[in-house]
Amino acid sequence: MSKRDFYEVLGVGKESTPDEIKKAYRKAARQYHPDVNKDDPGAADKFKEVTEAYEVLSDSDKRARYDRFGHQDPNGFGGGGADGFGGGGFGDIFDMFFGGGGGRQRNGPQRGQDLQFQMQIDFKEAAFGADKEVEIPRWEECDTCHGSGAKPGTNVSQCGTCHGSGQQEQVISTPLGRMVNRATCRTCGGSGKKIEQRCGTCHGEGKVRKRRKIKINIPAGVDSGNRIRVPGAGEMGQKGGPQGDLFIVFVVRDHDFFERDGEDVHCQVPLTFVQAALGDEIEVPTIDGKVKMKIPPGTQSGKVFRLRGHGIPYLNRNNMRGDQHVHVVVVTPTNLTDNQKELLRELASSMGEETHEQERSLFERLKSAFLGD
Ligand SMILES: [Zn+2]
Ligand SMILES: [Zn+2]
Repeated sequence: MSKRDFYEVLGVGKESTPDEIKKAYRKAARQYHPDVNKDDPGAADKFKEVTEAYEVLSDSDKRARYDRFGHQDPNGFGGGGADGFGGGGFGDIFDMFFGGGGGRQRNGPQRGQDLQFQMQIDFKEAAFGADKEVEIPRWEECDTCHGSGAKPGTNVSQCGTCHGSGQQEQVISTPLGRMVNRATCRTCGGSGKKIEQRCGTCHGEGKVRKRRKIKINIPAGVDSGNRIRVPGAGEMGQKGGPQGDLFIVFVVRDHDFFERDGEDVHCQVPLTFVQAALGDEIEVPTIDGKVKMKIPPGTQSGKVFRLRGHGIPYLNRNNMRGDQHVHVVVVTPTNLTDNQKELLRELASSMGEETHEQERSLFERLKSAFLGD
């Protein structure tokens, strides 16, 4: 039951910046992703743990509450209700006193449990959003008996033990005096009903396990660890209670060419040394398609060019986008013919001492490093 400290889970310090937390999460998520760790049953739990930690620490409000209350925060993650002070402390104390069972109003309407699933999406789906469908396994009311648990046409009568209330009262002596404990009726399990013949479809449960297709609207700009809520798509409620919610946690697949850093995109583009020396106009892939980019003469390997506005859209902020950073890599030619080698030697001798100032200072520093001063 005891939870590890969220900072410890992500391996970051208490003073870490949102950026450091994001980086730590991305690293951990990649490491423990269940798809990568098919043979390690512990990985899924680890993944859940880091995702939960990230959900809290990436949200400034939740993080501030966590810093104050730790895991005791009544409004913390997974407390049942989506927002507001749900679930709670009192029920737990009650259960402690009376040995459980009777604490939470078992006989009244109960909200269904929330469900949480992961969804893998492509790099571009995360960038631009998409409509997708997921198949969610969950409990639904049995169509045959409409939730009564009785075979259609057979008799359902009142439970003789609790007379239909679903609860039994017990008087208990405690150090604080005599108290009345209302516990769930053991005969009928709290339903208050006596079923003559069980429904053949659900075996008297009143509910059946189904796989339900649910439409998910992925917002543009989501990143790994982001979560969306689909209200009322979780588990069915009990005794007329509302359905729980469905939460989808996104895991964004890596792209072969683009690398994401927040809302910015990085990529590497090769240049021939002739293009780098003489300059050129090249086409660069972006998530919007090809974009023309000017390479000025004398471009050095490692130079980074910025394509403004070709990055990832900001989540929930229309018309704001990051940039694409193009890292150029000058490729040294290999497998030169004898003729080409000769031409390069000619080039080298023609350049002689007339090297560019920047290059000269580089070479001079190298020379002085050899001389040891
Ligand atoms: Zn049934
Ligand atoms: Zn009963």
